[in-house]
Amino acid sequence: MRRHPCDRWLLVLLMPLVTLLISCAADHRERSSMTLSQCIEPAHAKSPDIRRNLSDIERAGLCYRHQQVREGRFTWSFHILEHRQHPQGPFWILPHDNENTAFDVGVQAVIDYGGGLLAVDSGGQRHFLGQDPNRNFSRTNAEAKRCPGQRHPAPGYSQAVLDHYRSRRGPILALHNNLNGWTGNGGAGSISLERESPSLRAYPGQGSGRLRDEDNLVFVAGTRPLQSDPALKHRIKALNEAGLNVMHKQVSQANFDCSLSDYVSQHRLGEYYNIEAEHGDRHSQQQMVERLLAVLGIPRLSAERPSSPFLQP
Ligand SMILES: [Zn+2]
Repeated sequence: MRRHPCDRWLLVLLMPLVTLLISCAADHRERSSMTLSQCIEPAHAKSPDIRRNLSDIERAGLCYRHQQVREGRFTWSFHILEHRQHPQGPFWILPHDNENTAFDVGVQAVIDYGGGLLAVDSGGQRHFLGQDPNRNFSRTNAEAKRCPGQRHPAPGYSQAVLDHYRSRRGPILALHNNLNGWTGNGGAGSISLERESPSLRAYPGQGSGRLRDEDNLVFVAGTRPLQSDPALKHRIKALNEAGLNVMHKQVSQANFDCSLSDYVSQHRLGEYYNIEAEHGDRHSQQQMVERLLAVLGIPRLSAERPSSPFLQP
């Protein structure tokens, strides 16, 4: 068969494009890789957070796994704890390694409700190699460019974290700690019920004591204004009635910041709740976990049956 001369030119023109596409795909595949261990002895974990909670973790027989994600210049290290008998319970993300109260409360939540948690290891600091782990959620260059806190997109990191929800039906949950007040009222933090903005609206809870504190709040986000999001509006009302402060962010193209909350909203990945409490206020954060899960209808695990046959009825 004779080839039309144009075919050859077409081939000459297309070949570099095809080669480029193949190398881009290969490049994309190589850009991130992930390993996730089997359950290993929690006593072997290189983590002060695990060590601090070791007796509770061992007593409850939680499964400890170590996950590593390599992407660009980062090798991310995640500590995973899961309830062996009830792995389907609520699953918590803890992006900041300097928020110890959140970690301790997270361990107790896994023991009490099943499920699990993922904690980013940044050597005890908030940032890892200059990157805030909670400003690292993006899929594309275009998305990353919109976030002042992120220079390179991190699709591998984002996927690795959110893959833990793949076989779960519950909401995406996060735990954080913050500093007292905010700079606008003489405090040191950046999260506060008193710090509203055009995109942040505060909904004070009907609680008492420390639950009313400006730093103790449930953070929620959505892309719609609250008045056109009746389900979330209803949820906020229920959380307020349960005594919890709520802060709502309306996420837009302009204010998207590569945080987990914004990423989940932007890509419509499901319901999201982040329990923020002041550093050290374990009692309040614990109460907030219990009240949030009660509002969401997630039950506490029932007490184990006594192991001795002589004690059974
Ligand atoms: Zn945090």
